[in-house]
Amino acid sequence: MTQYTPERIELQNDDWQSILAQAVRSPRELLELLGLQSSGLAQQLHVDKAFGVLVPRTYIALMQHGDENDPLLRQVLSVQDEQLEVAGYTKDPLGELETNVQPGVIHKYHGRLLLVVAGGCAVNCRYCFRRHFPYGDNAVGRKQWQASLDYVAQDASISEVILSGGDPLLISDEALADLLAQIEAIPHVQRLRIHSRLPVVIAQRLTDRLIRMLASSRQQVSMVLHINHARELSASHRPYLEACRQAGISLLNQSVLLKGVNDDEQQLCQLSETLFAYGILPYYLHQLDRVQGAQHFAVSDERMRVLYRYMLDHLPGYLVPRLAREEAGRTSKTLIKL
Ligand SMILES: *Cc1c(COP(=O)(O)O)cnc(C)c1O
Ligand code: SF4
Repeated sequence: MTQYTPERIELQNDDWQSILAQAVRSPRELLELLGLQSSGLAQQLHVDKAFGVLVPRTYIALMQHGDENDPLLRQVLSVQDEQLEVAGYTKDPLGELETNVQPGVIHKYHGRLLLVVAGGCAVNCRYCFRRHFPYGDNAVGRKQWQASLDYVAQDASISEVILSGGDPLLISDEALADLLAQIEAIPHVQRLRIHSRLPVVIAQRLTDRLIRMLASSRQQVSMVLHINHARELSASHRPYLEACRQAGISLLNQSVLLKGVNDDEQQLCQLSETLFAYGILPYYLHQLDRVQGAQHFAVSDERMRVLYRYMLDHLPGYLVPRLAREEAGRTSKTLIKL
């Protein structure tokens, strides 16, 4: 595989764990790297100890130097608006704690089961619906996987296992190999899906070894990436995504509609087109989950419909993602009617 040379930022080592270890954790440092230390943004910083700033330098390299409104920066910089308490925005907007049937297992979708295999992410997205999720109670180590796998094995209605998190690709290739082998041994599981943002912020996570492992699975494997803006993809991602596709892994994308990031007709169309150019199909466009601390990213339903109609009018059908929202207690996402 071709080696990826990050632009502008020097890295000691380019394996994904080293890149992750060098991630920026201070909002002030992030602004300094972008030459924004004396901008208006510097007055709006907020330090959230429980859900701090976390952003790999490979992602920062794709931001525009000197731009306060950079759509990538806005997704990861913690600002004072997160402290606002707004009616209707809660800590568990999706009622996940109720469907958290046992540690590490979320069974809310029919036929599909989410395994929480990692208690964290490689990037802390400020709009995240799981920003208050008690990962501590779900710290699923390899030992506890057995209980989760027993749950899957005893329910023949589960035909798809979805690895979730946190970010499931945060666990090592060795640990994943172990988990995959055990899932493969359950006869009624036909499909395996990985929801991850890690390859977006650190493309190097898609190691040859990981790809070979996924490709050799008895199950059909798909990967749903979480990309919200066309600029999150760069030439450096291409060889890794190409390798996935050559290995027969289906690549899909899920985006969240975010004010100040992608709430723009052209940007949304550009996102779909860019995804396709990288071999990824746009799958879902999500209305924001009403999680406390994320209200400044909200786009009204009215505006959302205008944006979506524009996409329908300007893109081929296969580049129009499904418009959906997540509602507590439902066994699938709710498609939004125009
Ligand atoms: C929506 C969603 C799923 C389930 O997706 P379907 O394709 O509707 O089965 C799984 N994981 C995450 C994180 C989701 O947002
Ligand atoms: S990668 Fe996904 S789960 Fe992790 S913080 Fe971002 S939105 Fe949340």
